[in-house]
Amino acid sequence: MKKKETVLKGIPASPGITIGRAFLFDKEQYTIPRRAIRDDQVQAEVKRFKDALVQTKTELVEIKKRISDEMGAEHGQIFGAHLLVIDDSMLIEEVIARLKKEKLSIEYIFQDVLNRYIKVFSEMDDEYLKERISDINDVGRRILRNLIGVKEDILGNLKEKVVVIAYDLSPSDTATMHKKNVTAFATDIGGRTSHTAIMAKSLEIPAVVGLETVTRKVGNGDDIIIDGTHGIVVISPSQKTLKKYETDKERFAAIGKHLLELKNLPCVTLDGKLVELAANIEVPEDVPSVIAHGAAGIGLYRTEYFYMNRKEPPTEEEQFRAYSAVAKRVKPNAVIVRTLDLGGDKFLSQLDVPQQMNPFLGWRAIRFCLARPDIFKTQLRAILRASAHGKLKVMYPMISGVEELRQANAILEEARKELRKEGAAFDEEMEVGAMIEVPSAALTSDILAKEVDFFSIGTNDLIQYSLAVDRVNEKIAYLYEPAHPAVLRLIKSVIENGHNAGIWVGMCGEMAGDIVMTLILLGLGLDEFSTSPIAIPEIKRMIRSVHIRQAKEIAQEAMTLLTGKEVEKLAKRKLKELVPDLAIEAE
Ligand code: PEP
Ligand code: MG
Repeated sequence: MKKKETVLKGIPASPGITIGRAFLFDKEQYTIPRRAIRDDQVQAEVKRFKDALVQTKTELVEIKKRISDEMGAEHGQIFGAHLLVIDDSMLIEEVIARLKKEKLSIEYIFQDVLNRYIKVFSEMDDEYLKERISDINDVGRRILRNLIGVKEDILGNLKEKVVVIAYDLSPSDTATMHKKNVTAFATDIGGRTSHTAIMAKSLEIPAVVGLETVTRKVGNGDDIIIDGTHGIVVISPSQKTLKKYETDKERFAAIGKHLLELKNLPCVTLDGKLVELAANIEVPEDVPSVIAHGAAGIGLYRTEYFYMNRKEPPTEEEQFRAYSAVAKRVKPNAVIVRTLDLGGDKFLSQLDVPQQMNPFLGWRAIRFCLARPDIFKTQLRAILRASAHGKLKVMYPMISGVEELRQANAILEEARKELRKEGAAFDEEMEVGAMIEVPSAALTSDILAKEVDFFSIGTNDLIQYSLAVDRVNEKIAYLYEPAHPAVLRLIKSVIENGHNAGIWVGMCGEMAGDIVMTLILLGLGLDEFSTSPIAIPEIKRMIRSVHIRQAKEIAQEAMTLLTGKEVEKLAKRKLKELVPDLAIEAE
């Protein structure tokens, strides 16, 4: 009997639709017997262990190199963390000491020590250490595989096209994955910014993460649909559902093709107002996609990735190379580099960020940078130096008041002075902006506007702070409403205050890529939209289909409505009238 259709909703990690067959990727669980060894076998067991370590290290160095070449140094860096695990002398010494004492096979002792490490780490309060569990687990499995001579590399050896379903996919799983045969994936855990999501986007295959129970609901070989755009997974779809998704898939592909034809056309309204349409990137390797989707520059370059999975913060040289490479490739268009936004839900790091009760309200972003001017100034110097190679701009995250802004600008000025003294080239006119993502910043944007060259509204945070809705908590996701009148009022006043002070106002939160909100934002006077490359063509088409006058009328009407739902309804109705086929996508 055919299984009943099951629909799961998770977090969209990489867009697109795949219809395929599920492959349940279970981490290999080896059963290792408790085997006693003789005294004279101890040395041989130690040697076997050391050989397995060397072999594992060689494998990891190879993968690191391959991934760095294929996907860029930042992705390869992940394996740097794995190599650290392998060099952990405490773990190695403990295994050897126990082997000598207990006289049991090396694989048995190793697995036991490994499991104990994982247990201890998972009980710790430190999020950074908890994050290391997957590294330890991953490397541990590799060592074990080499010890017992299992040569399996399941994901690298798939013989047919599958949709991979897993509890989680470690970086080394995704790295060995054959793009040709893995057509999509879905995982129980993970968030929008997890490695898995980043990798999926780089591989350009649909993915949904954070599904919680997908591994329990799917069976090997089940028919499955992955809708990475909406974060939906359908297991054993009915004929009707299948048909719907087949049509959607075709339409998605056709729209994509059609929209890409807009690539070289300007982002201009029917009555000639030019609107800046830029893209968000996480790593330099995202730039080709920005260009392919026809964005005019980069409105948000998140720099947190530099600080991931490493012991020391990145050097000035390293950052300079990355920023200038991006600046050169995007020239003459601009690149807005956002200074380090660590904390909140972002990559807990090695940088002594302690566990916090309310991480989103805690020591993050500019607060962290102002407390660590050494790290901050290194980044600012790198950005300034890179500004000599293209059109760079800089912006600070999480500004909550004018004092922070002044302090940040003072450190920037110090960096400028140092560089002048050193005779290093940089753009003296480089624009400096503030992200507006804290309600206090939005409410004092008239004051802040006098101190910067531009604003970029970070709606991901602005919404969570103004509506008191944790942006990563699924239970209250229904309250996370971009169209809420409170959010619209804040945005409106930021744009007005910016314009009154003669500066431009952009938006780099996800709302800028939400087609439903485009007309309203345009009507409120937003000068720049910055969103993920994949959303660019749709937004461009929308903007090219409307007169500013119409957008203004819609925005005005939206401002009179009482709830987010009413606003959304109005926006969708107008969208349908103006661009009927896009409206279907907006449903
Ligand atoms: C935002 O908050 O809207 C934003 C763009 O920053 P991030 O998502 O990186 O916090
Ligand atoms: Mg933010």
